[in-house]
Amino acid sequence: MSLKNYREKRNLGVSPEPAGKEEKLERDKRIFVIQKHAARRLHYDLRLEMDGVLKSWAVPKEPPRTAGIKRLAVQVEDHPIEYADFEGIIPEGHYGAGKVEIWDRGSYVLKERTDNKIVFELNGEKLKGTYVLLKFKGDKNWLFFKKKED
Ligand code: MN
Repeated sequence: MSLKNYREKRNLGVSPEPAGKEEKLERDKRIFVIQKHAARRLHYDLRLEMDGVLKSWAVPKEPPRTAGIKRLAVQVEDHPIEYADFEGIIPEGHYGAGKVEIWDRGSYVLKERTDNKIVFELNGEKLKGTYVLLKFKGDKNWLFFKKKED
């Protein structure tokens, strides 16, 4: 996976978003960010540093802080690592036009990863604990939820 789709969707000379470079980093703790994105429809973009990019999912409702709530998370194109710091206004007429602000951020530890399931421990300001992404339909539809404490 590369940043090709990301760049093709945007006019990065005009939009204030970063163009990005792909990085390969191997370490236990990786960054995550959730950006509140007031596009045509308000949603929350969950991004996990993985494979040198930010793997990204658009979550239409506020991410759950407690177990027992399941959210749809639609996988979208990979974003560059620097996108984790992005806040600003994507201009009218551009892809994703609207305000982007950081809703939560921190580090995470990957616990399990298969094609259909990612388990990770979040250490953010709002979200803390073990979370699961579970693919349930097609290529893009996942469920995102907090795991019950053992
Ligand atoms: Mn978005």
